[in-house]
Amino acid sequence: MDEKDKKLEQEPELNQDGTEKDDEQDYEKICYICRRPESKAGNMIVMPGSMCLCHDCMQKAFDSVVGGNLDLSKVDFSQLSGMPFMNLNFVPSGSGEDTMQAQIPRRQQVKKKKKEHAGPAFELKDIPAPHKIKSRLDEYVVGQEQAKKVVSVAVYNHYKRVYAESIRKMGKDVSANDGQEEVSIEKSNILMIGPTGSGKTYLVRTLARLLDVPLAIADATSLTEAGYIGDDIESVVSKLLAAAGNDVERAEHGIIFIDEIDKIAKKRETNTRDVSGESVQQELLKLLEGSRVEVPVGSNQKNALTPLKTVNTDHILFICGGAFPDLERIIKERLNKTSSMGFGAELRDRYQENPDILSQVTNKDLREFGMIPEFLGRLPVTVTLGKLTEKLLVKILKEPKNAILKQYIKLLEMDEVKLVFEEEALVWIAQEAIKRDTGARALRAILEEYMLDIMYEIPKDPNIGSVVVTRPYLEKSGGPLIRMRG
Ligand code: ADP
Repeated sequence: MDEKDKKLEQEPELNQDGTEKDDEQDYEKICYICRRPESKAGNMIVMPGSMCLCHDCMQKAFDSVVGGNLDLSKVDFSQLSGMPFMNLNFVPSGSGEDTMQAQIPRRQQVKKKKKEHAGPAFELKDIPAPHKIKSRLDEYVVGQEQAKKVVSVAVYNHYKRVYAESIRKMGKDVSANDGQEEVSIEKSNILMIGPTGSGKTYLVRTLARLLDVPLAIADATSLTEAGYIGDDIESVVSKLLAAAGNDVERAEHGIIFIDEIDKIAKKRETNTRDVSGESVQQELLKLLEGSRVEVPVGSNQKNALTPLKTVNTDHILFICGGAFPDLERIIKERLNKTSSMGFGAELRDRYQENPDILSQVTNKDLREFGMIPEFLGRLPVTVTLGKLTEKLLVKILKEPKNAILKQYIKLLEMDEVKLVFEEEALVWIAQEAIKRDTGARALRAILEEYMLDIMYEIPKDPNIGSVVVTRPYLEKSGGPLIRMRG
């Protein structure tokens, strides 16, 4: 262990009340007039009464007296000190005569800013391997196997990149082969395409929770070009800062999910300026690739009263998600064009039927949809989520760690009532959800409708021991099966 580590490991001295004891070296003088600390304003001149003045303020004071003819840097303060008629005991600080420092009251000093943590924010071994990330995701997210796999790898690579960059900044090379060309790893921001309710937001939320990183979810529809009504682009970063408890370092390793990204596609056939479409894509470019942005703390609007903090978005993982309606048609058209050149109708029919057509998306299709090439270039990983089938919807109802059914079962358990769902009832709920066309989102809404009466009636009778939700009850041709205790 070297000296620096030893110093870091030493317990700080504590006062009686448990607070850390102030070390004289932790403080620096501040100018009596402009209040700037020594680290900003340069050496201070210490005057009698422990008053400190910076050179700038001192110069201004002299200028106002002698009309700007005196250059303070050429004044020898040691000559001035001791002139009894002036009664000025100037002591330029930093001149070795810092004995006065001890007498300077605390209100004339400020605590020095702590040096930034020298090491990387986390260790390589702290980043879970892709298969571990995926198996944790499996506990919550049903189906969407390919998406979970792609996201796990992208996230793993992203945090490896963050690690490599922080090591590089520290002046060391991550690769063991010294002298080799330094390879910089590019950002792996993700574009997530999938129908409503297929689990895009849920996947990202689960991911952020598993990795214990702050997450901000923003809606692209509310974003507009700077200066127009709507949220500025930087507002997404200030959301992340808020999610990180205003801790800039934590925010800089977070995830920003921009939902409804398809809504900022280039508008077709417009004569006016496209302030909520193409311009927003343009403005997002700098955030996606990494830049330093000044964001207001505790507000999403900049104004004179809100303090600003600078956040570097270089290490923030951006995930943009959207349903991209009409994209299927674009993909089918492209595939049809190519197939009509060769084998013809048979292939064409296959494309029409394929429910997984989205997975064949290319950059060209997305460009045709209205995304600009530069924007797509900054989202190198594309993930598609499929429409949830009846089987998957039934699984979503009962299998994930916090499945909706488990939640209802737990609620009734508190009344010592056993709640059971017939398998056929679950199939009915899944079929009903498919009809509503909002994916897994519809499941909770449907269950709420039917569980209301049960949740209302059951606590009335303490003799009820169990309730079975049956398909006829859901179809309104029967009631739930109720059994009494004993
Ligand atoms: P969207 O794709 O529109 O962002 P969401 O992620 O908001 O959809 O999904 C809505 C809800 O449906 C989630 O909160 C979650 O409870 C449930 N859900 C959706 N997809 C899945 C899935 N694959 N596995 C488990 N639950 C899911």
